[in-house]
Amino acid sequence: MVEKVVIIGSGPAGYTAAIYAARDDLNPLLIRGFEVGGQLMLTTAVENFPGFSSILGPDLMDSMSKQVDLLKVRKIDRNVSRVDFSSYPYKIFTDEESFEAYSVIIATGASAKWLGLPSEKKFIGKGISGCAVCDGPFFKNKDVLVVGGGDSAMEDAIYLSQLAKSVTLIHRRHEFRASKVMQDRVFSNKKVKIIWDSEVIDFLGDDKLSGAKIKNNITNEESTISVQGAFISIGHHPNTDIFKEQIEIDGGGYIATKEYTKTSKPGIFAVGDVQDHRYKQAVVAAGWGCMAAIDARKFLEEKKLV
Ligand code: NAP
Repeated sequence: MVEKVVIIGSGPAGYTAAIYAARDDLNPLLIRGFEVGGQLMLTTAVENFPGFSSILGPDLMDSMSKQVDLLKVRKIDRNVSRVDFSSYPYKIFTDEESFEAYSVIIATGASAKWLGLPSEKKFIGKGISGCAVCDGPFFKNKDVLVVGGGDSAMEDAIYLSQLAKSVTLIHRRHEFRASKVMQDRVFSNKKVKIIWDSEVIDFLGDDKLSGAKIKNNITNEESTISVQGAFISIGHHPNTDIFKEQIEIDGGGYIATKEYTKTSKPGIFAVGDVQDHRYKQAVVAAGWGCMAAIDARKFLEEKKLV
């Protein structure tokens, strides 16, 4: 059987595409991946998704999952390991099975970035983490560091301030990139100390993290701070590895799209954080998902496949 539409990814873009495609009788197959729910599973309160004044990220994703269940969407919770878009119908492989599809919606999102220091690798899981919500509880009453100046870093600092003894937020410039509301929450949080214009140049410790060496970017002065935990919150990079060589990727590493959701191959659409280098918001990703399902339906109609 050739699928009419296969959706890869289970963040707001993937789920919304599945909801629209299912309601439009396209009987979509949703390949959710191992990390079902995407980045919102790793976040705390979401206060900017219309309809919810405040909802936990995992609860929001759980309700999307229940919504696709009500629509009888078929779900596969394995990662796509490979795709072959060189012939039509397109082919999609997991480690256990393969599928053929007349149209594909890519909504694979983005993954956390790391600083890239050799000492960072050494302490991942031994004090260094990319997920405050997942690992924060290990650092109750400890001193922790958060690296970054965007909304994620603000969110992590605020969350960790409820658990840790102290939170030091280190940012490489003298101005945060985060939204004003999040910045104000950090500025008014007495537990969060901010170190401006500085970067971590080394992580210190024997078996476990015990500190960080930091450098002031203006004065070049180096100093060390004692911390048992460090959370790297410096943004995300789009999850495009399996699509390289198959469709066009832009200079920033995102899937290149034109005319809204179309990629360089007909019938393959890309939406959400894997192609959106500008907005990167859950509600925007959901909107993109809707657009992709509508575009897939139009494509299938033009091909007389529905
Ligand atoms: P982001 O907005 O790209 O911010 C990344 C931050 O990390 C920037 O401040 C950047 O510094 C810093 N950074 C990047 N590379 C670095 C490096 N190698 N060393 C040190 N610092 C580095 O990423 P994000 O905070 O993950 O947010 C991503 C998107 O999700 C944004 O659109 C954000 O609004 C959204 N989001 C929203 C919420 C919310 O509304 N509650 C929560 C989380 C995320 P510079 O500023 O100097 O570039």
